[in-house]
Amino acid sequence: MKVEIAKHSGCCFGVKRAINIVSETANVEGSVKTYGPIIHNPQVVEKLRLDGVEVLSSLDEIRDIDTVIVRSHGATREDIIEIESRSSKLIDATCPFVLTAQKEAERLSNDVDLLVIYGEKDHPEVLSIVSYVSSEYKIISDIAGIDDIEYGKHYGLMSQTTQNKDLFRDLSFELGKKCDRLDVSDTICSATQNRQEDALDLASRADIVIVVGGKNSANTRRLYEICSQLCIRTQHIEIPEELDLSLLKENDLIGLTAGASTPNEFVYAVRDRIYSSFGISD
Ligand code: SF4
Repeated sequence: MKVEIAKHSGCCFGVKRAINIVSETANVEGSVKTYGPIIHNPQVVEKLRLDGVEVLSSLDEIRDIDTVIVRSHGATREDIIEIESRSSKLIDATCPFVLTAQKEAERLSNDVDLLVIYGEKDHPEVLSIVSYVSSEYKIISDIAGIDDIEYGKHYGLMSQTTQNKDLFRDLSFELGKKCDRLDVSDTICSATQNRQEDALDLASRADIVIVVGGKNSANTRRLYEICSQLCIRTQHIEIPEELDLSLLKENDLIGLTAGASTPNEFVYAVRDRIYSSFGISD
């Protein structure tokens, strides 16, 4: 038996940065709140809560003594203005890749007749991107989403940062057939791309793949989808204790990957749990 951890897996740059911003702020400011969970990982959010960081579920909960941190997914431009007016201080932990996606939404929509956004329509990042769109837009989550788009003159295509790179390429090809001119901005972040490529490679070789990450994390779900296509024994777990060890066989090559909001110690804890249950020393 061998456990192979994907080269790129677990906490990405944007998530690490957001967690650091929250931790540092909690040390120096009095009342610190994040607008929504800072990342899609309940265990990390709980740890921050114990350090005194509260999660706001509504802007109405903001008091004028609060320091409010905007999470890595970003917030709509309207919400940013509202937070600034209600709080004592706003700290923006929006991932730079999400900020780029917001700017691209603004730029593209200034030119095109219709902007197609590949993403999850209710995801906070997509809502933040949409708030920068000035043209007509349509959010699609798969290739069938473009079926009812009529032929037009000038369309734009961009993506939520954590979407599937291959599907984005297919969408670009298909949407190109529906208009005279298509402007494409690939806003999928490099962390997502690296994790997807490595997960694909691992799933093509492994007997079983374990994907670790929050059940509500878009990029973790994407990794699960990618791996399941190549390895039918793919499992998605949120925490190391969730792994059903009875599913593992003695000679398995076990692939291990994790979403961008999963702390790296979770990944190592899964590997250690597997090794110790089979009496293997690392
Ligand atoms: S997955 Fe990409 S866009 Fe999202 S926080 Fe990480 S680096 Fe930023």
